[in-house]
Amino acid sequence: MKIIINPGHWNLIKGHPDSGASGTLVDGVRVMERDRTGVIARLVANLLPALGVDVELYPYPDDGFLPELDAIGTHARNEQVALLCAIHCDASPGSGGRSGASAYFDQTKPGSQEVGAALSAAIAASMGIPDLGSIVQYMTGVCGGNPNCTLSIHRLSRAGDGLPGVLSILVECGYVDNANDAATLQRHPQLAAQGIVNGLQQYFNLSPAIIVPDPDYAVYAAATIVNPTFHQMLQNAGSPAYDEVDDCYQVCLDNGVNPAVALAFFALESNYGTDPGAVDFKNWGNLSDPDTGQLLSYDAWALGLRDWCNHFRLPPYSTENLNTISQIVPVYRPSSASGTIDGYNRYIMSLHDLIKGWQAQAVAM
Ligand SMILES: [Zn+2]
Repeated sequence: MKIIINPGHWNLIKGHPDSGASGTLVDGVRVMERDRTGVIARLVANLLPALGVDVELYPYPDDGFLPELDAIGTHARNEQVALLCAIHCDASPGSGGRSGASAYFDQTKPGSQEVGAALSAAIAASMGIPDLGSIVQYMTGVCGGNPNCTLSIHRLSRAGDGLPGVLSILVECGYVDNANDAATLQRHPQLAAQGIVNGLQQYFNLSPAIIVPDPDYAVYAAATIVNPTFHQMLQNAGSPAYDEVDDCYQVCLDNGVNPAVALAFFALESNYGTDPGAVDFKNWGNLSDPDTGQLLSYDAWALGLRDWCNHFRLPPYSTENLNTISQIVPVYRPSSASGTIDGYNRYIMSLHDLIKGWQAQAVAM
């Protein structure tokens, strides 16, 4: 399922940048709608993959690409997404700053009012502000209350040009000119983001899913870490395996394993062998005896590593073709991942970040 998140005001209107609302001062900084929608949208994009959602930010804040406002609905229709969700913050100039979360729905689309109600309630609950509900909005000032004249993200995501319409909603995450809402938006934007995610989870009945990182590194693959970096990491960590460092790197290559993947597991499983007691077992990835469930013990780190390198050639990895970090972690069930989807996702992303970091170092050398 794919959702497009549109950070409000990261677009052009008739060729000119759209600036959004300007709010009150918080901690000496003026709270700007356009800045907050970019921050909240990026946080939402980080959270949604763990619910199995393929998420696109359109446009991506700060990357310099500003489409015309009208292009957003059209893009969502071209992509045939499950939802186009525009993120905004409200303002009520002259009124002293109302407070609350709301959503503007498209009355021509089944589900739009309901997804708006779910989002408005969840954002309000997460931010601790009033729920102003799901509201239909005609562009009264522009075209005299004609119900077919509405926000462009709604109008341009309706069926047309031979393409079906897509569900759309615009959420308002509090008021930037209300002192309380603005303080929450500036200091804790993650509350607005979490509210949006909670509302989407409820409306679409989403379950936690295993994250597939990009790239999703494979165990049996070419090295993405050079030997000097491998050395450096074990040395920096004060690893007891440093005495066997060249053997360890070579064991990985001999077994067709990317040494970076092996090293990342070693880091997470035993802090490179420095955890209390680890040196007694020299067990690279804390493998257990399949019959007794007891932690296996080795005479040398390289021997434990050789076993680990071949572990993923055994069932169920071999029979189910599990080779990448997102595929093997839920089966491998590392004890530090706590046996939950969230735990596996944290573990997978930690592996990914380590491996990617070492790859960058290799390029820099
Ligand atoms: Zn706005």
